[in-house]
Amino acid sequence: MRTLLDLVLPASCAGCGRAGAGWCAKCDAALAGPPVRVWPRTDPGVPCWALAPYAGPVRRAVLAAKERGRRDLAEPLGAALAGGLAELRSARRPLVLVPAPSRVVAARRRGGDPVLRSARVATRWLPDSRVVSLLRMGPGVRDSVGLTPAERARNLGGRVTTAPGRVADWGIPPNAEVVVIDDVLTTGATARESVHALGLMGLPTRGVLVTCAA
Ligand SMILES: [Zn+2]
Repeated sequence: MRTLLDLVLPASCAGCGRAGAGWCAKCDAALAGPPVRVWPRTDPGVPCWALAPYAGPVRRAVLAAKERGRRDLAEPLGAALAGGLAELRSARRPLVLVPAPSRVVAARRRGGDPVLRSARVATRWLPDSRVVSLLRMGPGVRDSVGLTPAERARNLGGRVTTAPGRVADWGIPPNAEVVVIDDVLTTGATARESVHALGLMGLPTRGVLVTCAA
């Protein structure tokens, strides 16, 4: 979906600014490698992987999707997540992607949740997979920009919750492999709260996959 500005100006790559396509093949190569295991300072208690470091074209793409409403980036970012998930998943189990929660206000201002959008694209590429949007950010959570790791943990502590209903109500098979999806992993606080909230619901998390890790 193009914004009005894109109709006036030629599309430019969100990663490098080159005119022509919203995301060029050269920048896409930065997302093509196998997922790399990462260890955030706040341990979520499950393995975490990232497709790329939080730098260069990938960082710019994530920010453009998050802050500037570049919805077109859901396609390449979602396809890249699918590539990573194809490597990580065990082929015999259904795959359930749970997007990390975003603050409602922030998501609204950005015109939707880019993580949810990318996760939905990823399932189109992965057999026997689905997105279940279970996680909610409770009221009172501030934007985490500028907060220290300790402040981030305090800001989020216990405020990530799951949507009402039991696991079976959401159509999640008992043998499902649950992976939490996010765009950026920084301190690990959001990942830990997400894994914890899913655990309280009786849903074990297999791991966390992010587009990029700081
Ligand atoms: Zn580019």
